[in-house]
Amino acid sequence: MRDEVLGNPIDGRGDQARTPLIGCDDEQQEFYEKFSLLTNELATANRELAKKNDEIQCLNDKFQLFSDAVERSNEAIVFTDPDETIIFVNGAFSQITGYSAEDVIGRTPRILSSGHHDKEFYRRMWESLSENGFWHGEIVNRRKNGDTFPEFLTINTITNRDGRVSHYAGFFSDATTHKVQEAQLRKINSELEQFAYVTSHDLREPLRMISSYIGLIERDGKHLFDKRMMDYFGFVRSGAERMDRLILDVLAFSRVGRYEMARTRIDLPALIERVTAQLRGTLDGCGGRIAVVGELPPVYGVESEVERLFVNVLSNALKYCDQGRPPRIILSGKVDREMGVYAVADNGIGIEGQFLDRIFRMFQRLHAREAFGGGTGIGLAICRKVVENHGGRIWVESEPGRGSTFTFTLPLADSA
Ligand code: ADP
Repeated sequence: MRDEVLGNPIDGRGDQARTPLIGCDDEQQEFYEKFSLLTNELATANRELAKKNDEIQCLNDKFQLFSDAVERSNEAIVFTDPDETIIFVNGAFSQITGYSAEDVIGRTPRILSSGHHDKEFYRRMWESLSENGFWHGEIVNRRKNGDTFPEFLTINTITNRDGRVSHYAGFFSDATTHKVQEAQLRKINSELEQFAYVTSHDLREPLRMISSYIGLIERDGKHLFDKRMMDYFGFVRSGAERMDRLILDVLAFSRVGRYEMARTRIDLPALIERVTAQLRGTLDGCGGRIAVVGELPPVYGVESEVERLFVNVLSNALKYCDQGRPPRIILSGKVDREMGVYAVADNGIGIEGQFLDRIFRMFQRLHAREAFGGGTGIGLAICRKVVENHGGRIWVESEPGRGSTFTFTLPLADSA
């Protein structure tokens, strides 16, 4: 009988437990059934346990991965509880700030405060954290040894299931090297601009002399020189005039952003009126029209530069027109992601796809020197510099033979 009991499967699959056993009395039968049931439950529990073990192992692996990543990160990481008490910092935090984990756990990030920022700065930070769930910006903090340093900091709010803040996570990197490089770049840039400015300025002097003497020769030398020679003098004069235009444009390019010019609220309809007045002669000459569609959001910027931007883009729209149809230009504006977006659409000759980026570089012209009234190829480079100095972007979309749309973004006056 014992053999028969033991011979029955007890691995948890046993419906056989209910099979009557030969030679067993009722009590033994009942005991055997209970035993089998228990064994089944045990096997099921074992399987559950093994599954849970796998899950725990999996979680452990993930935890290990995350903690390795956090620990090896070059970016400092700091976690606080909702009361801003620091509960964790990684190695990079200690390397950057000089504070060990023991130094700061249980304290608040104010330990890093340098005194560089006023109450308003922190009020805005907290406002963004509570409204948007994050804050990102540059901040000056103090290391344990007393030195101050700039950092790029991001703080994220972490919430639990019922939406309450459970932690704050801060990530920052030391921006000292970046700032030094930025300052060096700015210095080199301003030296280069200074060089371009001075050279262009000085070049105009001998050029003016060439132009005036050529003018005198053309006026007084008619009886001394034959027609061929006079033609040569004509070439010299137009070369000198072209060089003067180039120098003036290089000067204009180097002037953009050169002086700390005041930024103000720019009323665009008034500015466009001034620009169309400047272009009146060209407009009348070619029968062109500029239509403003909708509202033009006011810009926050350097007025003279923004005016030059509109003059350049609009005069190109008139200049690169198709001989068969008078220029029809549509100027429109809208607000997108806190920037003003302005578009100038023309019905001109259009631009081939491969040149859409190139035309914003210096001296890039797509046509013969004197075609379309000539030009220096600097106008759009100036436009790009103006737009980028204002923190915006400029681009063009075009259909050759049908027209082009130049679009640029500029900061809005009302969000400044
Ligand atoms: P410039 O007009 O003095 O040549 P720009 O820098 O203003 O210099 O323009 C560079 C080139 O881009 C022009 O030579 C022309 O080929 C092209 N371009 C500019 N605006 C337009 C336009 N609205 N339609 C077609 N081509 C244009």
